[in-house]
Parts: sequence; C-alpha cells; structure tokens
Amino acid sequence: MSAPSAPAFLPFTRPSIDEATIADVGAVLRSGWLTTGPRCQALEAALSARFGGRPVRLASSATATLELGLRLAGVGPGDEVVTTALTWVATGNVVLQLGARPVLVDVDPATRNMDLDQVEAAITPRTKALLPVDLAGLPVDRRRLYDIARRHGLRVVEDAAQSMGANWGGEEIGLGGDLVSFSFHANKNMTTAEGGCLVMNSAEEALRFERLRLQGVVRFPDGTADVEEIGGKCNLTDVAAAIGLGQLKQLDGFNQRRIALARRYFDRFPRDLGFTLPPADFGHSNWHMFQPLLPAGVKRADFIARMRELGFGIGVHYPAMHLFTLYRGLGYREGQFPHAEDVGRRTVTLPLFPAMDEHDVDRVCAALPAALA
Ligand SMILES: *Cc1c(COP(=O)(O)O)cnc(C)c1O
Repeated sequence: MSAPSAPAFLPFTRPSIDEATIADVGAVLRSGWLTTGPRCQALEAALSARFGGRPVRLASSATATLELGLRLAGVGPGDEVVTTALTWVATGNVVLQLGARPVLVDVDPATRNMDLDQVEAAITPRTKALLPVDLAGLPVDRRRLYDIARRHGLRVVEDAAQSMGANWGGEEIGLGGDLVSFSFHANKNMTTAEGGCLVMNSAEEALRFERLRLQGVVRFPDGTADVEEIGGKCNLTDVAAAIGLGQLKQLDGFNQRRIALARRYFDRFPRDLGFTLPPADFGHSNWHMFQPLLPAGVKRADFIARMRELGFGIGVHYPAMHLFTLYRGLGYREGQFPHAEDVGRRTVTLPLFPAMDEHDVDRVCAALPAALA
C-alpha cells in the first residue's frame, strides 16, 4: 500500500476557470476576431445590467480605468486627489501619471481603510477628487464618504478593484456612487486575466472613455476620423472578455465560497498566537483576502519562508505606499501614517480562493504554530 500523497501546495490565491469558459476562449481564438469586439460588448452589457443600467466600459487593466476615471473627473496637472496610504501602488501612481498629487491619509486600524475622520483636513482648494480604496473587499463607508464629497463639491473615483460583489448598506458597490473602477486581474474575485472596468454616470462619459482608451480617436458616421485629445492604448481583447463572461456568471457563487471560508478561518484560527485578526465583517465584504497581522516581533520573511516549507503560499498586500522611494521623494516620511505603517509591516495574506474547502482552511490554521516556532 502506498502512503497517502502529501497535500498539494496551497497558494494564497488561484483563479477558478471552468471548462465552458475555456471552450469559449477557444471559440474566440478560432473566430478570427481577437481584439475588442462582440465579447467585450457582451461583457459591458452584462456588467451594465448588474449595475442597474449604468454605462460600463472595459479596459486592459484597472490601472487604466482608474487613470481614465480620474481624467473624466477632471483631474490634471497641479490638482490634488485624497487617497489612502495603504493600497496597491497603482492607486497613487495613476494620480502621479496625470501630473496631480496624491494626498495620503492614514487608515482606521479597525477597517484598514482610509480614515474618513482625516479626509476633511486633507482637502484643500486644489483637491479635485476623493479616491477611496476598499481594502480586502471591505467597502469604505459610502454614506460618510459621499457626504464629505457633496459638502466639498468633489468628484469620487472609487478604487473598487477588490470589492466586486461587496455592498454598503445592502447596495452592491457599483450600483451607486460616482465613478467606480473594478479590477479583473487574475488575483481578483473575478478575472479576465488582466483587465478592468469603469462604471460611469452618462452616455457622454462612456463615449469619452471609449475615445481615451484608444488613442483619442473620434469616428464619424461618414467613415472619417479625428483626434481631439490624447488617448492611450488600453482597450480589452475579446479573448479576455470571454474569460470575464464566464467568470461573471460564477461571481456570486465564488463570493459565497469566500465568505464561508473566511467564517471557517474565524472558527478555527488559533487565538493564542498573538495575531491580530482582520475586521470580522460578514455584512459588507466580499472577502477578497483574509489578512491577519503577525504578532509583534515576528519577522515576516521568516514566517513566509516557513509557511512555504509547510506547503502554503503567503502574500503581502500591502506595504504602506508612502514609504516607497517615489513617494518619499514627494515629501512623505516614516512615522507620518502610523496605522498604515503598522498594518503594512505585519500584514500577511493567507490562502483564500473559491476552489478551497474548509479542510484547507483547517490545514492553514494548524500550520501557524509551527510557522512561528
Ligand atoms: C489590483 C488593484 C489595482 C490595479 O488593478 P490592475 O487591474 O492590476 O491594474 C488598483 N488598486 C487596487 C486596490 C488593487 O487591488
């Protein structure tokens, strides 16, 4: 009799692509039309239907949709955009790409999202927009956020890269709000491999987005064209959109699995090790990630290496953005955002993806004491 095989390595995330989706990607590849075409149109229509009929357009990344969203919000050179110090660096970089300044605020340690108590003090006459981030899929308080935006006459570009399917007050993110950007990167709750979409307010915004994502070209009914303003090259392919169509059908099921697995983590997590557990939000979050904070004094690199030896992949999302050289160069410094810095130093992303089962969560929890020893 052979010994039972060791369980396979468990990464911190892995996309679930079903056979019907793979078959449809094959159909696109055989069709002769690979780039932006009928699959992109179908995915935009399906997303628009999900978001109450609001116009939705795709791009090749959420970095692109954020940058174009900021342009639609009128952000340009010399403007300021208020955002969080604890996010993927794309959030700050898109502001810099437009020649504007990312004005960072610390996070609320309870939610790890932008501390809304600090946002008003960060607003100046140069502020054009607020750029909230729903870290780990836990939405920023939309009622308070839009109250601040309205009182100061500011646009909002929601970096909802991680919060597809999450809600605030029972309303799904994307159904309301100003400009809402989702990412379909392979690690997100639904994927197109790479890609993203922007939910907008009007047909005019959607038309301008279409131009900005493809060189700024304006096409006229008589077949002629013009370019009035500079655009990028960030349209999505139909190959990618075929993946997204398959994923969107499964999104709610994926998110239900994620929520169940997060519950299991709370049930089984060894409480005596000194970890700080993530906010236990089972009303709003889509549980994009499960991120405890390491006990003080534990070297993260050692913990990650030890977990790897034990068969588990651990991610880091994210170090505090203002401590990157680029952002220090803007005048940001250590000690300025203590909560973002503390979370950024101690955060670890444990395995959580829809193909896992409860037993996998139990195995991760059981490995934690050995990984700290
Ligand atoms: C993933 C992510 C982005 C960027 O998305 P891409 O599709 O990779 O460009 C931006 N902001 C946050 C918070 C993200 O998690």
